[in-house]
Amino acid sequence: MNLCDIKTIKGIMKTFGIEFRKEFGQNFLTNNLVVESIADECCFGQSKTVLEIGPGIGTLTKELCERYENVIAFEIDKSLIPVLGYTLGSYGNLTLINEDVMKANLHAALDKYMDGGVSVCANLPYYITTPILMMLLESGISFDYITIMIQAEVADRLCAKAGKGDYGAITAVLNYYGEAERILDVPAADFVPAPKVNSSVVRIKLHKENPYHPIDEKLFFRVIKASFEQRRKTLLNGLSNGMSDFSKEEIAQAIEACGHRPDIRGEKLSTGEFVDLANKLYEIKNK
Ligand code: SAM
Repeated sequence: MNLCDIKTIKGIMKTFGIEFRKEFGQNFLTNNLVVESIADECCFGQSKTVLEIGPGIGTLTKELCERYENVIAFEIDKSLIPVLGYTLGSYGNLTLINEDVMKANLHAALDKYMDGGVSVCANLPYYITTPILMMLLESGISFDYITIMIQAEVADRLCAKAGKGDYGAITAVLNYYGEAERILDVPAADFVPAPKVNSSVVRIKLHKENPYHPIDEKLFFRVIKASFEQRRKTLLNGLSNGMSDFSKEEIAQAIEACGHRPDIRGEKLSTGEFVDLANKLYEIKNK
């Protein structure tokens, strides 16, 4: 059965009496080459187990089951569970969980697989891309790679360099957890139904040892958030507005101590420079 064939997809959906559900971001892949290369390149075979979010009718899942020892797939839409039984019932290495991944206990689901390495591979629903990515990064689970298909425009932001137009809070935060690399661009025509935008696949290699050492992680995240909240403002004004527990003088002192010009904008700072700034603010408050 070729799960990328549009006629096959529509035939299966008719047989099971289901329709594409927009509210769950259901755009299914129809290009075999794309599906195979995502499955091949999601973790270079480094992990024995792959976590998939949103298997749909099982297109990517099937290729993952062919390549990896264990595939754990979370699907929110219960009407797709019997379909997946039909398309993937023969794969004994698949664990299918009918749950919203945002509410799931991923630690419990993945715990016994961690020794062999676990990576994430998913064609994410667009309506919830950033929350899912942040949930995965903040979960504390030591994934080897997180490889996700997302809107091309979001990929631009994740992979942007400091100081460039697409660089934002999400880029600086992502760099704290790992290194993002765009591995494939996928046109809207490779999905059914076709979304309004093009997509890209981004592979994030998680740091095994975090090179960044904020003294107070919460403060570090607050500094990033406040620095980008008002993009047009200088770093000094952005932080003064967003961090009322620090005086303007304290913030100016920290910016200067880190070797930046007083009128620098937040978007110029790399993740390491945000760590230094947050640590300096911490020192000023706690001296
Ligand atoms: N993997 C399939 C493919 O590539 O053709 C389908 C991808 S489709 C873009 C997104 C899938 O995620 C859908 O099957 C949808 O039902 C599922 N989904 C949406 N929100 C979800 C959530 N919160 N938790 C788990 N699955 C979700």
